[in-house]
Amino acid sequence: MIIKPKVRGFVCVTAHPTGCAAHVQEQIDHVKAKGPIKGGPRNALIIGASTGYGLASRIAASFGSGAKTLGVFFERPSEDGRPATPGWYNTIAFTNAARAAGNYAGNVNGDAFSDDIKKQTLEMIARDMGPIDLIVYSLASPRRQHPKTGAVHKSVLKPLGAPYSNKTVDTDKGIVSEVTIEPANDLEAADTVAVMGGEDWEMWVQALADAKLLAPGATAVAYSYIGPSHTWPIYKDGTIGRAKVDLERAARAIDAKLKAHGNGRAFISVNKALVTQASSAIPVVPLYISILYKVMKAKGLHEGCGEQMQRLFATQLYNGHSPKFDSEGRVRVDDWEMRPEIQAAVAEIWPKVDTENLAQLTDIAGYREEFLKLFGFGLPGINYDAEVEPHIPLS
Ligand code: NAD
Repeated sequence: MIIKPKVRGFVCVTAHPTGCAAHVQEQIDHVKAKGPIKGGPRNALIIGASTGYGLASRIAASFGSGAKTLGVFFERPSEDGRPATPGWYNTIAFTNAARAAGNYAGNVNGDAFSDDIKKQTLEMIARDMGPIDLIVYSLASPRRQHPKTGAVHKSVLKPLGAPYSNKTVDTDKGIVSEVTIEPANDLEAADTVAVMGGEDWEMWVQALADAKLLAPGATAVAYSYIGPSHTWPIYKDGTIGRAKVDLERAARAIDAKLKAHGNGRAFISVNKALVTQASSAIPVVPLYISILYKVMKAKGLHEGCGEQMQRLFATQLYNGHSPKFDSEGRVRVDDWEMRPEIQAAVAEIWPKVDTENLAQLTDIAGYREEFLKLFGFGLPGINYDAEVEPHIPLS
């Protein structure tokens, strides 16, 4: 099959297996080039391990510290005439590379919110790994079926309280326009907390503890975003921000539990805004990211998921370092993004951007490049006109 990108709005419905493998290899090469991460995890469970920040965390644990990793994710294999999702191909590439390096890699594909997937995961940990000393919670999901009530909750990306208007960009067509998003109602806000808040993270940690598969002194980390005030109504102060407040609540609850179990720890790492499948779906944010990339690249401060997670592991979690917390007890690897000079430069560009000057004032080209790379397109050295086998099993 010859596989080309087919972009539909903010998703690409095709993915290239060899390109995804090359993309994963780029991150592996970065972690290896940075050198070993000492005192790192031995047995890491990564929930949301197939793309974005979760995949990058898995790569840092495996290739930085030689950890055994177990990845949980929800990906679709190839079907007749249709390639698999990128996370499927990413996981195969990661698994092959980790095993070739002598590092255990186990995979569980299914709904992480369900009791059944938790049970399968615990069985695999007990059989192949031993007690978990790092739990990374990196899910980004549009829905959750609650395992106890059976209710299906759908998350929304909306402001709270009042409508929000701002500029946004159609990244595919390159059109900048004004968008107004109506506020969420109470049910939508509660549903978003049910999906993206901390209850499921707590359930995972409890399940590990009940199964006696939590190592004394274990670390648990989940990811959040804050960003600048232009995006607050849709992010920090919107439905997703409310869910992140609940994630922080869960971090405190899990921290207390882990502290009592061999002085472990749990916290939130606030990461940089990056092009991922999750962030491309948020209105306004892709325009902000396009401007941010322009500014951070010009200052030599740009990082991708791989660089961010390598830095988190090597300078905050391990390597003889302790996490440096902000006033709310969060680790900040968005520190470079939030530097005053970076945000001042973004704020200067923001009001000037329109469809005509988008290519000059922003790094929309870099945004599109990164977006296509998520699906395995635009990687150097790959012949995208050649036939490629889309049906690859996940072992
Ligand atoms: P992503 O879309 O790249 O990855 C999401 C992962 O969750 C994938 O592995 C996917 O398979 C998995 N997943 C989704 N639903 C699942 C389910 N029901 N069961 C099992 N697995 C499921 O997302 P991302 O951008 O890497 O986001 C991960 C976390 O990082 C989120 O909490 C997000 O808010 C946070 N974050 C993202 C950014 C950003 O700019 N992208 C910035 C800061 C923090």
